[in-house]
Amino acid sequence: MAFFPSGINKNHVIELIQQGNINELHNTIRSRLYIDDVDYQIIFEDYSFGNDCFGDEFSKARTIPNEDWNRAEKVVFYVENIANLMNDRFSKLPMEIFLKVAEIYVMYILIHELVHVRQLKDRVISNDTKDEIFGVPYKERAIEIEANTIASSIISEFGEFEREIARLLLSNEQLDNNKVAMLIDMYYKRG
Ligand SMILES: [Zn+2]
Repeated sequence: MAFFPSGINKNHVIELIQQGNINELHNTIRSRLYIDDVDYQIIFEDYSFGNDCFGDEFSKARTIPNEDWNRAEKVVFYVENIANLMNDRFSKLPMEIFLKVAEIYVMYILIHELVHVRQLKDRVISNDTKDEIFGVPYKERAIEIEANTIASSIISEFGEFEREIARLLLSNEQLDNNKVAMLIDMYYKRG
């Protein structure tokens, strides 16, 4: 059990996103989702301000369409927000495991946003559909449910520990001491 809370800051989050593992995953997911041909920028900002269509107050990232809403232009990671959410929820984990969870978290967020890139390419999100989409509460939107389903399923392919983290990320479950012990156990049993 850690005596000091584990933690991460926004610069660590940026480093994580730029590291080799995530880059490799990014390329793999681009081909799996058939978005190899879409050019978008990856951008880092601290927080999301305002409450526009693609986010809520807990926005961790956002896919921004071009002016005509026919392709993705930018994927923005809100790195200060991601660091805060990690620290709020997972600081009871020992640092080594905390950092693994942070990596999984960033992968999850990336895959979720890449699904939105695909939805724009497929015109599921478009100028014609956006009003209808945003008329539905955030958590009930089909585009968000699809993004979370695909992110969870790809993350789960990495193993049982990863599957459990993906499940935790989607729930509001707090980590009590039993859960921390269970995760430590799962982590060390990974192949
Ligand atoms: Zn989303």
